[in-house]
Amino acid sequence: MNVYEKIGLQRVINCSGRMTYLGVSTFSDEVAKAAVEGGQSYVVIADLLERAGQIIAGYTGGEDACPTSCASAAIALSVAGIITGGKKSLVERMPDSTGLKNEIIVQRGHVIEFGAPMKTVIRTGGGILKEVGNVNITLPEDIEEAIDENTAALFFCKSHHCVQEGIVPIETMAEIAHRHNLPLLVDAAAEEDFRKYLKKGADLVCYSGAKALEATTSGFVTGRKDLIAAVRKQYGGIGRCMKVGKEQIMGLLKALECYENKDMDAYVRNQKETNAYLIEELNKLPGLKAREVQDEAGRAIYRCVVEVDEKITGMKALDIDMALLEGNPSVRTRNEFLNATVLTFDPRPMVKGDKELIVEKIKTILQK
Ligand SMILES: *Cc1c(COP(=O)(O)O)cnc(C)c1O
Repeated sequence: MNVYEKIGLQRVINCSGRMTYLGVSTFSDEVAKAAVEGGQSYVVIADLLERAGQIIAGYTGGEDACPTSCASAAIALSVAGIITGGKKSLVERMPDSTGLKNEIIVQRGHVIEFGAPMKTVIRTGGGILKEVGNVNITLPEDIEEAIDENTAALFFCKSHHCVQEGIVPIETMAEIAHRHNLPLLVDAAAEEDFRKYLKKGADLVCYSGAKALEATTSGFVTGRKDLIAAVRKQYGGIGRCMKVGKEQIMGLLKALECYENKDMDAYVRNQKETNAYLIEELNKLPGLKAREVQDEAGRAIYRCVVEVDEKITGMKALDIDMALLEGNPSVRTRNEFLNATVLTFDPRPMVKGDKELIVEKIKTILQK
């Protein structure tokens, strides 16, 4: 029995991905140890925020950085930092930004929902999203012409949730922003490269700690020194409602250290080994056709996709998904989220023993 079963909850097998609704990721013993040690000692929090920020900056190529409770908090605090410039009276007024430059320009294909609407997150920081262009096509002049005396920043979201074609690229967004003396804020919450977007010209970039890094629940923003200082000031304002704990921060720092030395070959190899097992076992079952596919956004993620021949199985992929979800353990595939017509398994979040349980459960479902 795991700790969640002990309090009366289902055991969950996550083969969906780094999903917030399933607890995002699991952390390593090393990260756990750092979090425990951090949690069992005292520290001057203001010093920890600054020092941790410097360390995060070292791993990400920022001039400075600031730890946060999650990526959404990083975005909200960044917006508030940009709007207030860190001025105390303004910090204490947030999220009321009446009369200040508070509009955040975004291309329409980037106004996403990731469990909460992006609009809400921006508004929490006192920002008002100004959507420009069209969902499937936005041009540089759409951005350029939207800039006026109320503009606080340009915003770019790098995510598989976003429209990928017909968008204004990040380099162009940076060029336009800087020509107008505005910062470019980037949401790269789930991305795996912590340096890339600063190199492309972003002024502030927000990341999740629990997604690619598999850290404790946390996040951070990295980038320009003056803006980071203004972000940090928000802990005396709206940031108090998004307090980041010392244990979260110490887990995050350890995860960044481990990530530097991450064996990418082993990471891919583990995925492929799990997929190979699933493909071999599932292809033995009549009506199922399993194969491996790479992530649609081109990341080093390989998933197992299973086509279901309804004529043979008597069940649609979605029916099998629903049956997988029911009972204990509850197997959560990607389809629950995507509502696709095939079964999709992400091997990354799976822990030891999961793949065998998945195959067993599918066999039982198909026998019914
Ligand atoms: C997950 C995600 C977020 C939110 O990150 P949290 O750390 O859960 O707050 C924001 N933007 C994108 C693109 C995401 O994928």
